[in-house]
Amino acid sequence: MHLVVPKEILPGENRVPIIPDTVKKLCRLGATVSIESGLGSKSGFTDEEYEQAGAVISSERAQLIQSADMLLRLRKPTLGDVTLMKEGCVHVSYLDPFNEKELVSALMSRGVTAISMEMIPRTTRSQKMDALSSQANLAGYVMVMQAAIHLPRIFPMMMTPAGTLKPANVFVIGAGVAGLQAIATAKRLGAKVTAFDTRAVVAEQVQSLGAKFLEIDLGETGETSDGYAKELSAEQVELQKKAQAEVIAKSDVVITTAQVFGRKPPVLVTKEMIAGMSPGSVIVDMAAETGGNVEGSVPDGVIEISGVTVIGKANLAGSVAKDASQMYSSNLFNLIEDNWSEEKNAFIVDFDDDILPGCVITHGGEVVHDTIKQIWQGDS
Ligand code: NAD
Repeated sequence: MHLVVPKEILPGENRVPIIPDTVKKLCRLGATVSIESGLGSKSGFTDEEYEQAGAVISSERAQLIQSADMLLRLRKPTLGDVTLMKEGCVHVSYLDPFNEKELVSALMSRGVTAISMEMIPRTTRSQKMDALSSQANLAGYVMVMQAAIHLPRIFPMMMTPAGTLKPANVFVIGAGVAGLQAIATAKRLGAKVTAFDTRAVVAEQVQSLGAKFLEIDLGETGETSDGYAKELSAEQVELQKKAQAEVIAKSDVVITTAQVFGRKPPVLVTKEMIAGMSPGSVIVDMAAETGGNVEGSVPDGVIEISGVTVIGKANLAGSVAKDASQMYSSNLFNLIEDNWSEEKNAFIVDFDDDILPGCVITHGGEVVHDTIKQIWQGDS
């Protein structure tokens, strides 16, 4: 089977889907691997390293795509790319299938098997393939680094002959994968950390990292069978905002990571709350790109609201591109290895598998994913 890795073309995307170490492993499985020349130039991997690992290097992007039995990438393909793909080609990437109807339609019509990395089911067995988690983990770390750079204070307590500096107060809203990593990173830097999440099960995880869990009685909240938060009612959101206002006012740093799968993120920090913070404080809004947890935050922007720096940086994991690439590459390899037939020397799409039906969106000229199918039927 011929696996192809084209260069990422989205401006600012420095990560690569496959690193040289993974090329070696794919070749050991029996695959042949071709990469587009310059693939890893922005994340610290050279063409020579890919070549030594066993890949064929080419600058002919269109030819590469046309020749692929399987295409491995991070970002979704363009419609132009889809027209180049072979019928029956397997395409693996982030796909955003809830919002990309035209693209999914094109992949379907072309007879491409499109696998969406963000739809990998979040089960124990699939953790090794879970790119949402691997990238969110790094995003959690990066958010704290961003806050530390912009905050005109240090995070740890410091006792010196020149006086004592108090530790910074950090409040983390949403303690999922990214939030927990942000808590751990801020704790390592010596900050005093408080966190809140609507899933009560998280309290123990927050406390085990040495942070305080803010108790707010919102009534019935809970989580879905996949471990995601359920959406709060408008009244519950108001209760949450009120209960958090005092903690926010006393915080030097607020990090927001609250998401509800398949929905717009809730606005949890208002302009009024921001005005209550000390000037120079910092807010990092991880959800800025998809609507924002913070009123007024700008996607991929750093702005000032009432003297508070509000950071809405996009592609957080991308700013540690080398490590992010290693993790994503490992996620991809685990997915491929799990579905590889040595006998056929190919990636096999088996709908009796416990993971694939959750993330294969199109196959054999049809949309095969139940949820996406239902949404589309509702649309038409
Ligand atoms: P996510 O990105 O969907 O959401 C981030 C966090 O925001 C979640 O913890 C959610 O509870 C929280 N949130 C939602 N609304 C909120 C609100 N109003 N206020 C405060 N917080 C709010 O979630 P995620 O980080 O990708 O994962 C969530 C959970 O899924 C994990 O903690 C875990 O339990 C489960 N998970 C399981 C696996 C696995 O087993 N393979 C992998 C990843 C995650």
